[in-house]
Amino acid sequence: MRLSGLIGASMAAVLLFSTQVQAAPCQNTGNFQQWLADFKQEAIAKGISRNTIRQGLAGVKYNPSIVAKDRRQGVFAQTFLKFSGRMVSNYRLKRGAKLIRKYNRTFAEIKRRYGVPAPVIVAFWALETDFGAFIGDMPTLHSIATMAYDCRRPELFRRELFAALRIIDRGDLQPYEMVGPWAGELGQTQFLPSHYFDYAVDFDGDGRRDLLKSVPDALASTGNFLQAKGWKRGQPWLQEVRVPANMPWDQASRAIKHPRAQWANWGVTWPSGKSLKADRLPASLLLPMGRNGPAFLAYENFDIYLEWNQSLVYATTAGYLASRFAGAGRVSRGRAQVNSLSLAQTKRLQRLLVRRGYDVGKIDGIIGARTREAVKTIQKKLGLPADSYPTTDLLNRL
Ligand code: CA
Repeated sequence: MRLSGLIGASMAAVLLFSTQVQAAPCQNTGNFQQWLADFKQEAIAKGISRNTIRQGLAGVKYNPSIVAKDRRQGVFAQTFLKFSGRMVSNYRLKRGAKLIRKYNRTFAEIKRRYGVPAPVIVAFWALETDFGAFIGDMPTLHSIATMAYDCRRPELFRRELFAALRIIDRGDLQPYEMVGPWAGELGQTQFLPSHYFDYAVDFDGDGRRDLLKSVPDALASTGNFLQAKGWKRGQPWLQEVRVPANMPWDQASRAIKHPRAQWANWGVTWPSGKSLKADRLPASLLLPMGRNGPAFLAYENFDIYLEWNQSLVYATTAGYLASRFAGAGRVSRGRAQVNSLSLAQTKRLQRLLVRRGYDVGKIDGIIGARTREAVKTIQKKLGLPADSYPTTDLLNRL
């Protein structure tokens, strides 16, 4: 789980990321120990116990290597097929299926209580920590205190540091148990401390919410989080489809939903060619690599994936992996080779679009919502199929 501009160590090298919150270069001023003393005073004022503050922040030091990692983290653009090809491995598919059987009763109870099916939760469990195998071993409080002191996003991490102390205060974890990746996430599905405090549940009945060591706690908390964000019980999230050679491509946008019957009417079918159920269920047509690549119907539940991680490539991969656990086949590569842009090429395209008066947000090499909209408009102007996906052909045309 990630906040904007915050990438966990486990995924740092591979995420395609929207970085609107990236702060401008800044300088740390003031002494860390003085900062910490002030923070402790504020924690007391917020009602966190003195004992928790003393134990939780004992020996906390500014760790410049964490800030260096955070500042170094770049954008690493990968296409959906490349990223999902790496993330949806045979090992994960087999291991996930086995764990769904092993925790069958726990999952049944989670589904009954939160409405979220096992494949959805297991996909996040797989992607975030390989089913709890890699939860990280850095002291969370040190990491978060360092980031809260650092000038880049102090308010964000200050909030997380208060939340981490409240988790201790509530008796869920001891300070020494709080370990994770350098960016401060916790547990088998990598909750931010504030999400841990708000959504963690004790599902094994031992009186503590332990998302690091208790599998039932971690899985049920994930279900609780997804339900709280609006998960719709019994509804699909992402289903692969086949698109016809021609259709109104400009309707393929995350912002546009049509009844499934409308997509059927435009010639969208199941991958086998079988007709879609022509019902009223609202869905977007998701073409992560344009009209020649893989295609999905993204339902309202898919919106929740972007609450988890706002990277569309991550969200699509998580939804696709969940669909595999639910029995779907391997995704089709589409009807033709897709000439995707590299990071540098995407930046060049963004500069060209800006020069022509389009708003693409930041020139960051990320194909975000605004870049897609600009691409769609220019495709229409040039008389090209307006699927919003930039390729090298479009770049050459410009
Ligand atoms: Ca527990």
